Amino acid sequence: MSEFIVGLTGGIGSGKSTVAKLFNELGIDIINADVIAREVVAKGTPALQQIAEKFGSTILTSEQELDRRALRNIVFTDESAKSWLNNLLHPLIREGMIQQTQAAKSQYCILEIPLLVENGLQALVNRVLVVDCPESKQVQRTQERDQAEEAQIKSIMQSQCNRETRLQHADDVIDNSGDIEHLKQQVERLHEQYLLQTVHTESQLSHNSVN
Ligand code: ADP
Repeated sequence: MSEFIVGLTGGIGSGKSTVAKLFNELGIDIINADVIAREVVAKGTPALQQIAEKFGSTILTSEQELDRRALRNIVFTDESAKSWLNNLLHPLIREGMIQQTQAAKSQYCILEIPLLVENGLQALVNRVLVVDCPESKQVQRTQERDQAEEAQIKSIMQSQCNRETRLQHADDVIDNSGDIEHLKQQVERLHEQYLLQTVHTESQLSHNSVN
């Protein structure tokens, strides 16, 4: 079980998934909040049933799965619907993150939460690791990855917290303004640091349990 949890965050296109993959190649378990957010409303879950009861079956596809676009259209214009949905989903996602970090087997684990700072989830992790790069690179890389419009990417960036605010919450920062090799070197350095901190946390834990 991993006692030490590193929260990995950053804006859209900053390089979170790329960084997570590099840590994973070093043997570290990755837990992804977006994956959990999909799992809690997967076909047949109690949460999906509650959502369908609240908003009607128009939010279900013919396969009885969540029609994300239909639900987004409802909550986009209806603040009370949005808070109802958040009140339902946030505790479930939080519970899923706690369970999956507790089940992690590597010496420490990475919990990838795109909106960690926005949702004030710092208490779930031992350290906050921010992947940072200039906004122009976020836009350019996301455009290449998703074939999306620049305006659409910028509006997502607007809905996320700004670079300075995110950096204020960082314990560690990865600078992703360079190439992948530069990224890899930083990940390897942090990996060594986290392994040492893990040992420190374990000795603190056993010390605390003795006293
Ligand atoms: P996020 O998960 O934060 O949205 P990604 O890790 O998916 O970001 O990175 C966005 C895109 O940019 C991906 O296509 C990724 O392969 C690419 N990318 C990430 N870091 C670099 C880099 N240092 N150099 C070039 N391309 C990169």
